[in-house]
Amino acid sequence: MLALVPDSPRPQNLEVLKAVERRITSGGMRLRFDDELERRYDMDTRKRRLRFLTAVGIGGACVYNLFLISDWLALNDLFTYVALGRVGLITPMIVLMLLISQRLTARWALETVSATGTVLASLMPLLVMIHSASPYRLHYQLGMSLLMVYCTVIQQLPVRYAAAALGCMLVIQLVTTWVAGFMDTVIWQANAIFYVSTAVLLLMASYFLERGSRLSYLFALRGRLLQEQLTEMARTDPLTQLFNRRYQGEFIASVWERALHTPTRVAVILLDIDHFKTYNDSYGHMQGDTCLKLLSRTIHQTAQAAGALAFRFGGEEMLILMVDADVNQARNLAEALRAAVHELNVPHPVLGNQARVSISLGLAEGVAPSVSAGALIGSADTALYEAKRAGRNCLRCA
Ligand code: GH3
Ligand code: MG
Ligand code: MG
Repeated sequence: MLALVPDSPRPQNLEVLKAVERRITSGGMRLRFDDELERRYDMDTRKRRLRFLTAVGIGGACVYNLFLISDWLALNDLFTYVALGRVGLITPMIVLMLLISQRLTARWALETVSATGTVLASLMPLLVMIHSASPYRLHYQLGMSLLMVYCTVIQQLPVRYAAAALGCMLVIQLVTTWVAGFMDTVIWQANAIFYVSTAVLLLMASYFLERGSRLSYLFALRGRLLQEQLTEMARTDPLTQLFNRRYQGEFIASVWERALHTPTRVAVILLDIDHFKTYNDSYGHMQGDTCLKLLSRTIHQTAQAAGALAFRFGGEEMLILMVDADVNQARNLAEALRAAVHELNVPHPVLGNQARVSISLGLAEGVAPSVSAGALIGSADTALYEAKRAGRNCLRCA
């Protein structure tokens, strides 16, 4: 089918829209969405998140290797080891993790790999530092704060992952500086307080970042869902729920445009409810509306089953469009429509005790763009008048 054909109405999208509205207006502190919305969030943001993590991973690895300079300056006695660790161990590990990430489909796995990579990158230099006799070790170990900033503010790990990564880094920091034993207890304590408060502040930043990105997702999703809803409303006739005349024009234009490249066989069925004025005059317009809705639903379902689209042409007239179908398929559909309405068995007693509501149909088909849409509809209209003249409840072909 053509791209312009919308999917069947999606009531679940209305539910999502309601959930989004609820979440935006509630303004609570909780980050996680309800299950359905959370699943959608993971799915919708996974690809962009992967691209982002890959980009910052590459950038992060470059900056990580720039620290070879500080290794040289501040950890000179063990430079060979720490340089080997950076270039020969951690950098290939980051590359490997980035490659693995490209294959991960679950968002939690992606975040876990990213958090793990950063924690491991923070572990190596400090392990080497334990064995150094450099007088600059106190300054050297400050590099850890940059890795903490990286995982929260740059990688923007979700707060749960950021908390786990920061927790691990804090332990690494406190244990390695303690084991190294190059500070007296007061300096170690001051250092520990510095790192604990850095971690707490970064965790707060992480919370607000995640909250902001979740909120902007909700606004974007709301915009998209409202747009879909508007498009659907603009295409749908409110009474019959069939496609309306506006969409009929758009759809026909798209078929004929495509036909300029690939000539396309098109069948048009124009149908009209028989004696509908009498029906209204006898049972009232409300009952007439109910009858029209009932018939429209049947006509929509029957057309859809045959791969055709049903439009409300006007009043109690409907137009069915079948693209890429031969004349036999179109005839079968027209006959199926007539029979389906007949089988609805809607009584029309003013016409007689056994009388039912029926439809008359006119069928025309041709190859676009040789034949214009207007000419095809005109021929179907003429055939419809013939069906009326022939006694109604029947099909005539142009
Ligand atoms: P025919 O078999 O020749 O088609 O007879 P008819 O009475 O159906 O034809 P006519 O065109 O005279 O009447 C069409 C009627 O359809 C008139 C109008 O009241 C009714 N109608 C059109 N749209 C609606 C609608 O949305 N709701 C209701 N209840 N009636 C409608
Ligand atoms: Mg009519
Ligand atoms: Mg009529």
